[in-house]
Amino acid sequence: MAVDLRPIKDVITKRLLVSQSAQLFDPLGWLAPVIIVAKIFIQELWKLNFSWDDTLPEEARHRWIKYYKDLPRLSATKVATVQTVPLPRLELCASVLLSRLVAHLQIQLRFNAALHLWSDSMNTLHWISAVPTRWMTYVANRVSEIQTIVPSAIWHHVPGANNAADCASRGLSACELSQFSLWWNGPPWLKRQEEWPSSLLGPPENTVAKEERRVTVNVAVRVNEPCDLPSRYSSLDKLLRISKTSTLIKLTPLFDGQLLCVRGRLKHSLLTYDEKHPLILPPESILTTLIIHDCYLRCLHGGVQRTLGTLRQSYWILRGRNLVRSLIHRCIPCVRNRGNTQQQLMSDLSSIRITPSERAFMNTGVDYAGPINVRTSKGRVHHSHKAWICIFVCCASRSVHLELVFVERCLVTMV
Ligand SMILES: [Zn+2]
Repeated sequence: MAVDLRPIKDVITKRLLVSQSAQLFDPLGWLAPVIIVAKIFIQELWKLNFSWDDTLPEEARHRWIKYYKDLPRLSATKVATVQTVPLPRLELCASVLLSRLVAHLQIQLRFNAALHLWSDSMNTLHWISAVPTRWMTYVANRVSEIQTIVPSAIWHHVPGANNAADCASRGLSACELSQFSLWWNGPPWLKRQEEWPSSLLGPPENTVAKEERRVTVNVAVRVNEPCDLPSRYSSLDKLLRISKTSTLIKLTPLFDGQLLCVRGRLKHSLLTYDEKHPLILPPESILTTLIIHDCYLRCLHGGVQRTLGTLRQSYWILRGRNLVRSLIHRCIPCVRNRGNTQQQLMSDLSSIRITPSERAFMNTGVDYAGPINVRTSKGRVHHSHKAWICIFVCCASRSVHLELVFVERCLVTMV
């Protein structure tokens, strides 16, 4: 370590100050707590809108001279940008920086030991411990990066007082840094794992929840009148007499005291009671829609007939076929699967097919149909022969001529 100071000039401008601080060469960051003071100082000048060659006010000049003269007591830390980013987010950025550094070292040094990383920010630890999609974009992107590049890292909380990096962000005078053991050696308990502070996360603070992704959901509730038709009538006869045209009447319903079922004609079958007398469900009910949907999924997106058949083992839904059909029609995976694929365009027809010729069959297409068995003689003892039908089609007029062809002639024709 060496410090070689040039004499301080009388007039101190921002240009001079930036130039002098840029001469502090510290590639490994050992002097970060001291250099950070200069960086913070320059940042303040930016905020005060000094131009490059303005003379600094007396107070600022004194501060700089004091800092500069203090440097010989010795021999890169990042200052947050002037733009105001909330502190919890900056702490997260610090963890991203740490993760990148560690990931790089893992590759370069080829070490494969357990990885313990430390942060003094509870917010950051809460964010990292959850899935990235839970957070807003800014946090989600960074958490995702951390979880991707150091997936095996175990994160711990280090109390602020024990955080060696803390002085690098607050700044120390050169004199203080030279005797600051936490910076040079780390916290005393670091080398003994059994003395590590508890890594249990406390309850999240408000700042954690602030970054939670808000999901907006609009809920519309339509309250249907409960289907209390049976309760309005004292007897089934009265209920059934309400309308001769009622869709229920065709089902000759059975009222078991609580529920309406289909009477049906399967009384003497071996089926179960539910199968003989399926429950009647009204088409408008949300419950009915849910039952249909559930059945449709159990049928693995089956067709109308299959879904309806399965449903009818337990339920009779009024206008069921229409309901099932409309559900299938709206099913998004099925709509996607039904999508039309690109079809090959047909080329133009050849001239011989669309211009009249002198005679029919000037241009002819030939094809065979068959084979068929052909009997050539009548009577009980007969022989059938294998034959084909030769079809001649006139290309222009579409006239057809048929010819019976036996094996021998067929071969000749084909040749
Ligand atoms: Zn479907």
